[in-house]
Amino acid sequence: MELPYAEPYKIKVVEPLQRSTRTEREEWIKQAGYNLFNLRSEQVFIDLLTDSGTGAMSQHQWSEIMLGDESYAGSKSYYKLKEAINTLLGMPFFVPTHQGRAAENVLFSALISENDVVPGNSHFDTTKGHIEFRRATAIDCTIDEAADTTLYHPFKGNIDLNKLEDVFKTYPKEQIPLCIITVTCNTSGGQPVSMQNIREVSGLCKKYKIPVFFDAARFAENAYFIKTREEGYADKSIREIVLEMYSYVDGATMSSKKDAIVNIGGFLACRDKELFDKISMYCILFEGYLTYGGLAGRDLGALAQGLMEGTEFSFLESRIGQVAYLGQKLREYGIPCQEPTGGHAVFVDAKKVLSHLPKEQYQAQTLAVELYLEGGVRGVEIGALLADRDPKTRENRYPDLELLRLAIPRRVYTNNHMDYVAACLANIYKRRAQITTGLKIVREAPIMRHFTVELEKV
Ligand SMILES: *Cc1c(COP(=O)(O)O)cnc(C)c1O
Repeated sequence: MELPYAEPYKIKVVEPLQRSTRTEREEWIKQAGYNLFNLRSEQVFIDLLTDSGTGAMSQHQWSEIMLGDESYAGSKSYYKLKEAINTLLGMPFFVPTHQGRAAENVLFSALISENDVVPGNSHFDTTKGHIEFRRATAIDCTIDEAADTTLYHPFKGNIDLNKLEDVFKTYPKEQIPLCIITVTCNTSGGQPVSMQNIREVSGLCKKYKIPVFFDAARFAENAYFIKTREEGYADKSIREIVLEMYSYVDGATMSSKKDAIVNIGGFLACRDKELFDKISMYCILFEGYLTYGGLAGRDLGALAQGLMEGTEFSFLESRIGQVAYLGQKLREYGIPCQEPTGGHAVFVDAKKVLSHLPKEQYQAQTLAVELYLEGGVRGVEIGALLADRDPKTRENRYPDLELLRLAIPRRVYTNNHMDYVAACLANIYKRRAQITTGLKIVREAPIMRHFTVELEKV
């Protein structure tokens, strides 16, 4: 018989989980204003809120924590990270930052001014937040196929070259400081961008002399999809693919809490010495001196080691395999999900599950609350709450998709946990017609409201 798949690691440290009753959860979620961000972690049994900073570090990463060099300037841990970024990504310059959004803050401070436009593929919420905070506009150029959750397309994160060229033709070059390719594209469902698309976008940007950057949080997962889905890459190693991907861009912002499997950290890498000098100033101003950038020496070491582990095929196969496993289970129960399953998360199509609720009652948030009540599982809304209000008109923005995202932390849960989550959703799906009311907002912040919004039942 053919041998089944098994993870390329075993578990050395365990963290107990707390169970709760439905009655307890009803009380807790009400107190939390029906916002899952407001729950205490011990009120959650299986936490799929995010895969950001929630992964399990390896014994080698924990060793780096002990080896951390806490020198203010020129620490050994910094040089370890520099070596990893130079060799794995081929990027000559970088500054560490405390998170991905901090890298965005540093880069955009150097590049973006009022009235600028920044084209890309469904910009991540903090990226968009940092652009709009500077009174500039993010223009989404993702291919139309991304909006149809039922359609199979191997690279739904791709940028539509015609849409991108339209932007380049509509606005003067001075008003377009950069183009951002998010790999994988979080907002459109953890969907990858093909090497061909990266190459073509890069070519178009060169033609119009616009710098192009990766939002690189999940670059390794993107490389895995290129290897397994794109012609000509099956025999290339993940690291060869990664090097080629980065060869087409001028730099990258990185949230290391994703594919570098650390609990905190980020960096900003670039090729151009002049830009590096400019960002250095903002790094020192906002983050810290250039060789630590808001992180402890031990964090830099764990990050360097995490970059190595995160670009191993066996790790990515197990990681993406587990996400696909959950997606497969949900499909077996008939639950509509984004096709194909993304790299870091399964996206349930809440608009289809709760099609009888109006969009003004936040279908995806309603489903997220139901999932918590059913089994203590925490997912997150990727829908109208996240889409926020239009910065100019202050009208609610209703995106094409109302998704419930179930993001899987790296090396943390077993497939038994995935079975439990799938069963919870199957129960909800069966009784979906009885869910007759959604939620309404009672309080919200002026920017990035989804983190703190308070709701009540309609
Ligand atoms: C997480 C993430 C960010 C922001 O990074 P933080 O480390 O959370 O600040 C930016 N872009 C993408 C695609 C991300 O997934």
